[in-house]
Amino acid sequence: MTDYPHLLAPLDLGFTVLKNRVLMGSMHTGLEETKDWARVAGFYAERAEGGVGLMVTGGMAPNREGGVFPGAAGLFTPDDIANHRIVTDRVHDAGGKIAMQILHAGRYAYSPDCVAPSAIKSPISPFPPKELDEDGIEKQIADIVTAAARAREAGYDGVEVMGSEGYFLNQFLVAHTNRREDRWGGSLESRQRLPVEVVRRVREAVGPDFIVIYRLSMIDLVPQGQTWEEVVALARKIEAAGATILNTGIGWHEARIPTIATSVPRRAFAWVTRKLMGQVGIPVVTSNRINTPEVAEEVLAEGCADMVSMARPFLADSQFVRKAMEGRAADIAPCIACNQACLDHTFGGRISTCLVNPRACHETELRYDPAETPRHIAVVGAGAAGATVAMTAAERGHRVTLWDRAQEVGGQLNMAKRIPGKEEFIGLVDWMTRMVDHERIELRLGAEPSVEDLKAADAVVIATGVLPRDPGIEGQDLPHVVDYVDVLQRRAPVGRRVVVVGAGGVGFDTADFLTHGEGPSTTEDLPAWLREWGVADPEAHRGGLDPQGPRPEPSAREITLLQRKPEKMGKRLGKTTGWIHRAGLQMKGVKMVPGVNYERITPGGLEISFGASRERPTLIEADTVVLCAGQVSERSLADALEAEGVACHVIGGADVAAELDAKRAIDQGARLAARL
Ligand code: NAP
Ligand code: SF4
Repeated sequence: MTDYPHLLAPLDLGFTVLKNRVLMGSMHTGLEETKDWARVAGFYAERAEGGVGLMVTGGMAPNREGGVFPGAAGLFTPDDIANHRIVTDRVHDAGGKIAMQILHAGRYAYSPDCVAPSAIKSPISPFPPKELDEDGIEKQIADIVTAAARAREAGYDGVEVMGSEGYFLNQFLVAHTNRREDRWGGSLESRQRLPVEVVRRVREAVGPDFIVIYRLSMIDLVPQGQTWEEVVALARKIEAAGATILNTGIGWHEARIPTIATSVPRRAFAWVTRKLMGQVGIPVVTSNRINTPEVAEEVLAEGCADMVSMARPFLADSQFVRKAMEGRAADIAPCIACNQACLDHTFGGRISTCLVNPRACHETELRYDPAETPRHIAVVGAGAAGATVAMTAAERGHRVTLWDRAQEVGGQLNMAKRIPGKEEFIGLVDWMTRMVDHERIELRLGAEPSVEDLKAADAVVIATGVLPRDPGIEGQDLPHVVDYVDVLQRRAPVGRRVVVVGAGGVGFDTADFLTHGEGPSTTEDLPAWLREWGVADPEAHRGGLDPQGPRPEPSAREITLLQRKPEKMGKRLGKTTGWIHRAGLQMKGVKMVPGVNYERITPGGLEISFGASRERPTLIEADTVVLCAGQVSERSLADALEAEGVACHVIGGADVAAELDAKRAIDQGARLAARL
């Protein structure tokens, strides 16, 4: 008997059967562009072995002009087909099924050659697209169809036609991006003609026994987006044109509403997919912020969909499905939806990986093979870096003693989990705590080892983390000055008017924390979150945008966030999430002031000035001043060991405090443990 009867039930597609209801959604990892096909195959094969029912590859370009960026991978030559065959063979050998996504970016392509229904530049791209003539449109269809036929030749079990997120096919559907007056624009029928034609001709080319998934934009979240009636009409036409499965797309990339970030409530959009259930006869997949087997089971049991798509959770843990099947859900490394190592890497032109699992997309290079000679490893600090070393070394067969002066595992992650909208960090700390509860790990919480205690170990790892930096501002010893640790642990009272010194990730998080009152965060309250961001039922309002706009709760405090650098606040936050943090604080009326000098703190507030000549002296009146001025490495134990000639490995914040983050700490810990 399983805890997940709906999730693990097979899905009969008529000509083939999927072994469960889990779809690994498409992710652009950058692996295909490396042209290291053993590595690409390693990535997908490991996930096929992990038991997922069906996987979808990252988006493959149907032609040069449709690629997301110049040089985007696609099936253009016989060599490409042979290379993709390496992947599909490995997946099939591992008992899996895989479909290739065909992604035509249209005006989202990061290229001067991009094409679109009309010459209207997107707000997220510097390149104005060329308007296609009718022959040009026919060529795009033919190229998409050719890509599908080649996918079949390369051994794929199907294709996913990308029709959502504001990409090419989506761009034909609404007047916002389609001003044509020919047979490809104008009336609803003409605007919907392209996606329908694409699916009809793809089906014709690939035959009846090949999976054709269509990713349908169910809520556009942009002005002048589709009405619900239009969405349903398109879904029915796509079914009639020969699609096997309808997948859910949520929001265009240019939407100003977060759709997958960690502050988005779990299963935040399953209600949208549910509206389509019963309107079509083919299986419908739901998606977005579903990251545990429990949540996936819940949405299926409630009838929101026939199948669940999860993408990033398969970066965090390739064995997600297997662990769920074996009743080991608590062992699943959780995707915390941070985007830091996956989407932020993609947008930075780097190969994706995962903050929680540095092996993701590095399967062939970072291996945790059994240790040749099991040794005794002493690890000091059970934060992200130390816990990762301990769990990985123990998995490899070493015996570990893990020390932390705190009474809990997780270090700085225990700060992050207190921030409204970062509740996923609770699950991450719980998972780490569980993973260090291991027969080969002796966990010594509330204890600090001496140099003598550590001398006996075969290897010593120092992961003692960071201490708050002393910003040395005159008056910082006054009683109304507190640091972020005291604030987040609710150890210090905070008044109504607050100045936050420092606008790094912690300054932003602390400001966010202070805007909230006593109740749960909107991440735990879906109706409140939808109201906060202005999301409405698409049946009531075109595109699912509330005509009243975002309606956040007022801030619990009057907050001013300061930094010395004369640059845009939050510029160094995550590429794909920084705007959400900024927008969140702006909605709450937080004042953000860059380019300041800190003159002195007085009982009445903080005196600042601007520029090298200290112009415009200003007192910002405040009841409380909160210091978030970054961190310095806590190296005292490492220094003491070195003084006694005891070799040690120093990792995480104890190694480099600047830009300390969990991604680097975990990566460093994992790579060290793989070598020990
Ligand atoms: P940080 O990113 O290093 O930022 C420190 C802030 O303090 C900056 O605004 C800096 O700006 C200011 N500062 C530095 N020295 C100062 C001094 N002597 N006096 C006054 N101000 C000073 O550190 P953090 O905010 O503590 O975050 C640590 C790391 O945690 C981040 O790098 C990030 O990787 C991670 N994190 C990320 C997020 C997120 O992305 N949402 C959230 C939390 C933590 P000026 O020098 O311009 O004043
Ligand atoms: Fe999930 Fe963050 Fe890993 Fe991306 S980097 S897969 S969002 S945990």
